[in-house]
Amino acid sequence: MNEQIRGLEDLKCLAGARQADTAVAFDLQQRREQAAAGVPANEQGAGVAAQIALARRESPAKGSRLLGLAKTLPGMPHTFAAFRSGLLNEWRVTLVVKETICLSPEDRAGVDEELAADTGALDGMGDKAVIAAVRAAAYRRDPASVAKRAARAVGERCVSLRPAPDTMAYLTALLPVAQGVAAYAALAKDADDTARLAGDDRSRGQVMADTLVERVTGTPGGINGVEIQLVMTDRTLLQADAEPARLPGYGTIPAAWARELTLTNPPTTRTPATASDAGPGHAGPDETVSDARVSAADPEEHTGLETQELNLWVRRLYTAPGTNELVAMDSKARIFPAGLKRFLQIRDDTCRTPYCDAPIRHHDHITAWHNGGPTTAVNGQGLCEACNHTKETRGWTAKPVPGPRHTVTTTTPTGHTYHSTAPPLPGAPVRGAPVHNQAVRPFSGTPPILGACHPLRS
Ligand SMILES: [Zn+2]
Repeated sequence: MNEQIRGLEDLKCLAGARQADTAVAFDLQQRREQAAAGVPANEQGAGVAAQIALARRESPAKGSRLLGLAKTLPGMPHTFAAFRSGLLNEWRVTLVVKETICLSPEDRAGVDEELAADTGALDGMGDKAVIAAVRAAAYRRDPASVAKRAARAVGERCVSLRPAPDTMAYLTALLPVAQGVAAYAALAKDADDTARLAGDDRSRGQVMADTLVERVTGTPGGINGVEIQLVMTDRTLLQADAEPARLPGYGTIPAAWARELTLTNPPTTRTPATASDAGPGHAGPDETVSDARVSAADPEEHTGLETQELNLWVRRLYTAPGTNELVAMDSKARIFPAGLKRFLQIRDDTCRTPYCDAPIRHHDHITAWHNGGPTTAVNGQGLCEACNHTKETRGWTAKPVPGPRHTVTTTTPTGHTYHSTAPPLPGAPVRGAPVHNQAVRPFSGTPPILGACHPLRS
């Protein structure tokens, strides 16, 4: 049994090494074809990593890294051999390449040689040991590249959010070391000052977390001044139904939690909207988007009227009977109006390219406007910047296809077709799921969706 597990592990490594060989060959072939079609030299190679990503069921960002790895490995023959033999798996090979990527090809080959000469250097090493060994060899060869590398790393500073268990989230910042240490020290100092105040029973960690939120949102004790959109059925909001809600940018959250956030964090000011929610050119039936009580999130929709009496912003988006798809909205304009953009944002949640879950940055005409593609919800999709760019590359086509949920078919230059279906909305029927509040369910098969936008500006 143990031999079998090891044998399969070796096979995975060998398959990974073969994929790397094939990726390099595919890159060459695509570049040749692009050159023959008259694509300028500096644009050749576009879309190759995205195709590798789709074939490997990985995100476009990962596809890029994998192609980079594949193209670097031939210059590191010993590392490549260790990959083929199973001594280094794909992840550890990635670490080796990552640590040497700032070196010249000659120095990289030298590091490769040095590691191989140290017999057993790569055998039995954990991730950290591999990084340490490669770094030491790299620093010895080219100390200047350390400085270069640091300069490159600063450019990668960023903030990201990912779900943690139990409706918690990791808010992570990748920072230059001085800023990271300074930010942490400032939070720690605050927590220590607060600890001296009588009556605060929060732990140091809790105070630091609360202070971080207060400083970033600029609101003591809350999250005012920022819009949080919640997507849920009205039964979840008003009838204590258990159907989970969706928090765009985060994911699925329990119904009770969604209700509590909605009802206990009222915005300090609200502005009822009178403009049609879909913006100019809205041609959908009136009940597609109705302002239940109050609705407005974008400044252009404001009437200037402010009131203190309402404590909840609710935007109703009805689903089509029988399909649970948000009802389509149209616009005659080329640019997606604000309401339709928000609609796509809620429906798609993240970039629609398969396996890519980057945030939506572009509201894209699936069939391009200049090819007669209308500005509609059906012909619209949310894409990240990189994927929108790839979609415009020669040989890529996309079209919406009819289905129970909004679906886009993308065909790559090699003629391979991939489908992207919008994520299920709260309230969509799930086979085998328990049904709650059957008796009070007022809608049969067409549950409306509520986008509760709150709290808003203070
Ligand atoms: Zn994307």
